Amino acid sequence: MRFIPVQARFFLVILINSNRRRTKLNMAENNIEIAEESANEGLNFVEQYIKEDLEAGKNGGRLNTRFPPEPNGYLHIGHAKAIIMDFGAAEKFGGTCNLRFDDTNPQKEDTEYVEAIKRDIHWLGFDWGDRLYYASDYFPKLYDLAIRMIKEGKAYVDEQSSEQIAAQKGTPTQPGQNSPFRDRPIEENLDLFERMNKGEFPEGAMVLRAKIDMASDNMHFRDPIMYRIIHTPHWRTGNTWKVYPMYDFAHGQSDYFEGVTHSICTLEFVPHRPLYEYFVKELADESYCPRQIEFNRLNLTYTVMSKRKLLQLVKEGLVAGWDDPRMPTLCGLRRRGYTPESIRNFVDRIGYTKYEALNHIELLEHSVREDLNKKAIRVSAVNNPVKLILTNYPEDKVEMMEMDSNPEDPEAGTHQLPFSRELWIEREDFMENPPKKFFRMSPGKETRLKGAYIVKCTGCKHNDNGEIEEIYAEYDPETRSGLPGADRKVKGTLHWVSVPHAVKAEVRDYDRLFSVENPSAEEGDFRDLLNPDSLKVRDNVMVEPWLAERAQPGDNYQFVRLGYYTVDPDSRPGHLVFNRTIGLKDTWAKEMSKSN
Ligand code: ATP
Ligand code: MG
Repeated sequence: MRFIPVQARFFLVILINSNRRRTKLNMAENNIEIAEESANEGLNFVEQYIKEDLEAGKNGGRLNTRFPPEPNGYLHIGHAKAIIMDFGAAEKFGGTCNLRFDDTNPQKEDTEYVEAIKRDIHWLGFDWGDRLYYASDYFPKLYDLAIRMIKEGKAYVDEQSSEQIAAQKGTPTQPGQNSPFRDRPIEENLDLFERMNKGEFPEGAMVLRAKIDMASDNMHFRDPIMYRIIHTPHWRTGNTWKVYPMYDFAHGQSDYFEGVTHSICTLEFVPHRPLYEYFVKELADESYCPRQIEFNRLNLTYTVMSKRKLLQLVKEGLVAGWDDPRMPTLCGLRRRGYTPESIRNFVDRIGYTKYEALNHIELLEHSVREDLNKKAIRVSAVNNPVKLILTNYPEDKVEMMEMDSNPEDPEAGTHQLPFSRELWIEREDFMENPPKKFFRMSPGKETRLKGAYIVKCTGCKHNDNGEIEEIYAEYDPETRSGLPGADRKVKGTLHWVSVPHAVKAEVRDYDRLFSVENPSAEEGDFRDLLNPDSLKVRDNVMVEPWLAERAQPGDNYQFVRLGYYTVDPDSRPGHLVFNRTIGLKDTWAKEMSKSN
């Protein structure tokens, strides 16, 4: 069951897209956009543009998108939003989507990232088929284009330092200044550029710039850099090149070479679009030109999305790796127990707009809870165990209790849970002197042991430190689950695991990676904002034997009454390790139902 009624979904999307900095005006605009979305068969604005282009017969009715990651880090949930757009739109309209590695900077890129990116896209449920490309495949063509532009007087070699070039850029309200090298003769430019590529000059000695307009309103037109010198060998092309194209000189042309029709990217590329078109027009004729469309990035509370910062966390050992379950990376989320469906549903809920927003992590958590509620097998595990002894239960008796493996899934069936005289229960489920509204176990009160019997607590024993060491109770044989006696009204129901059958496990419990809502908006070093309590490890969680036998890395379980847990890849027979994905309590759903 989806908890959100259809009308409420609009409301929800608006709320999710809101953040402290946003104005009411933006909310209203969003509202209109969402209303439009509903009037357009559920298509978002990008899909509507695509539909219009297809209906107008543009590009011969062809649709070809692309996802262009730079292999300089692992994919994060923001990339998932782009992937779902690029591959999803292609799927929806019967088009194709290329995977293109934007491998234009050998200093930062690595094959480790290439393989990880492919794995994560597949995990999300998408496939590029035989359309795997690399920007480095186009280095020869891009170089030829650069030579042609030099010959046509459209590019020049600038020997100034990057600081000097930046100082001449001007401001949005003031024109820039021409470089003293701007009008250098064509022959000299050709000679220098060729020698740049032969490795005759050190990195930073000179760059190739497009000769456009130092007074343009668009800062990107103020003689943008096309090529810089890099001596680091490239993982695919080795030492062939010593000059490497900048993003702006590579991206549009790569789209063009591949026949991409819709180049969908994030809003920060809006001011780049005219330059994208400028360079593509050096190649394209009237018949075909890729179209760039921009949507809002995904930003999530209590985390950062910058690959540079994520890399820093990994390199400095502030997290256990790219796949640390606290990371917003897809491999981190996977290790935490997130499912691809939960991520796709989340992205679907936040939607695509033209306004920047900060998305609440609670909604992502709601999405995984909703998905796992449908799928996760229910098992018994005791987080903080204390011994309960049923004094009137025979010493050596063991009964097998039949437990529903998942009440949400009729296919899941049942499994057997052994019951005996000594049981582990949660320490928090017992109080010697309880307040009035405590409906769990306390002396003199009856409580139900889930799927087993009703028991009456008779007392407890303390150790020398005054801590409760054992709790005592008597069971009522007439109240075994399934017998008429079991219908008796009892307020609390507790989960339990039989002491002689329990298997000890390690559980890693996670909290937010950062202690502030929007770390990227804070001054100072982002590392100082890390939550020092984001990982707690328990090594004496008691789980039921059936779970211990079947647990495989990546499996999702619901520990009854506790939350959703997944088996960590570190887990092995004899040393089970679980990651806590998320608790059961859905504060987000609660908030939403209150506001409806
Ligand atoms: P950088 O360029 O700083 O290394 P990046 O996050 O932009 O980082 P890319 O590998 O260039 O990384 O991104 C690939 C694609 O994913 C781009 O089209 C980009 O627009 C998109 N993308 C990146 N971050 C997000 C995000 N937070 N939300 C949505 N799309 C994103
Ligand atoms: Mg990028």
